[in-house]
Amino acid sequence: MIKAMILIRLGENMGWLGLDDTDHLGGGCTTKTLDILIKGLPKNIEVGELRLVRLWPFAKQRTRGNASVAVELICTDEKKLLNHLDTWWKDNILPLAGEISSSENYDRQQFPADPGMIWFSRSLPSAEFYYNTARKEVNIEDIPLAEKSWGGQGKIGATAAIAWDKKMVTYEAIGWRTETNTGIEKAREIDVQRLQDIDEMEYTFMSRDPRTGNSMIAPRGPCPVLFGIRARKYQVAKNAAQYLLDSRNTEDNSGMRIFTTNQASDDHLEENLSDIVKDTDILSRGTVVINCQEHKLLAFSESGDIKKLAQWLESGDRISFNGLINHDGAIHLERLRIDSTVNKKVRPLCQKCNVKMKSMGQNQPVRCPKCRDKSELKWNEITREAPTTNWVQAPLNSRRHLTKPLEWN
Ligand SMILES: [Zn+2]
Repeated sequence: MIKAMILIRLGENMGWLGLDDTDHLGGGCTTKTLDILIKGLPKNIEVGELRLVRLWPFAKQRTRGNASVAVELICTDEKKLLNHLDTWWKDNILPLAGEISSSENYDRQQFPADPGMIWFSRSLPSAEFYYNTARKEVNIEDIPLAEKSWGGQGKIGATAAIAWDKKMVTYEAIGWRTETNTGIEKAREIDVQRLQDIDEMEYTFMSRDPRTGNSMIAPRGPCPVLFGIRARKYQVAKNAAQYLLDSRNTEDNSGMRIFTTNQASDDHLEENLSDIVKDTDILSRGTVVINCQEHKLLAFSESGDIKKLAQWLESGDRISFNGLINHDGAIHLERLRIDSTVNKKVRPLCQKCNVKMKSMGQNQPVRCPKCRDKSELKWNEITREAPTTNWVQAPLNSRRHLTKPLEWN
């Protein structure tokens, strides 16, 4: 089984190094760990593509950002490189294991960092392994055999980043804070005028929230990332990041690198599904539970148009949808569409009094509560006009990293 997972052969003198789970709530970021590792490589090693891969958001032992990284390395002496990586692992990455800090703002259970590092040089793990890690829980025993590996849980994500088949690609240019600024409570200083320019550039995406104008490129808290600029073209991501770094109104930085990513690829989703609504239940803050004939769906209060459409649904409506299944078997909606609606039945009006007729009991005609006139017509059918018959999606600031914008389809 494991042997069958390894398919693609690699060229001579090259390999892929994957890394994951070096971050924790108190700070740190796997992208920075990789940046420092690359800077520390022996002189004769050539650095190829860099990857940042987002994985299944419900994974039990996921870290904050749930992203793993990988880098392509070209070397003439693999043994020498592995010796170097061995020492590097012990001196610089292993000490990050077990790091955890509590934060009142996090409701999800946090696991201590359990870093992992993987080296593949003769063949690559199959894309099947990548899709599994993007779509469901994967255990450490399921990792295909690498030429060399170090550490624990992080090996899963590290392998996934190497196994990624890049069916759909976007880019993220990540800039890092200086060591002095990292970890301090000072908000990140970023040139807002230049950020606006970047937001308006063709091919950039998710730079600013269109509704509030707020920046979406900078994280908060003690992590070393200054910003991440997402774009659909490599050169656009690179130029935009450089433009921001060159400004006197952007704080000092400790470098920048461009990652190829699976963000906005929809790789975490399978085919769309369809079902018929049985009933809906509106919970606090507008979250909707949609019970369908075969599926239970959740439209969260932050999901904007999805929530609004979900609240409008009635029993018998046919819908199409997609999303991830949580541990309880409910689907967290990431997109929703109304395919057909059932008509609404209302009691007829009394022609004299213009008030609604009322039921007199089963198999009985309806009666006007005022003049007591009867009507044999029990119901009037009213066509329900759906607010939209297009797909709807959550607003930018509450989408998953992996979710593809509908307008790209
Ligand atoms: Zn009447």
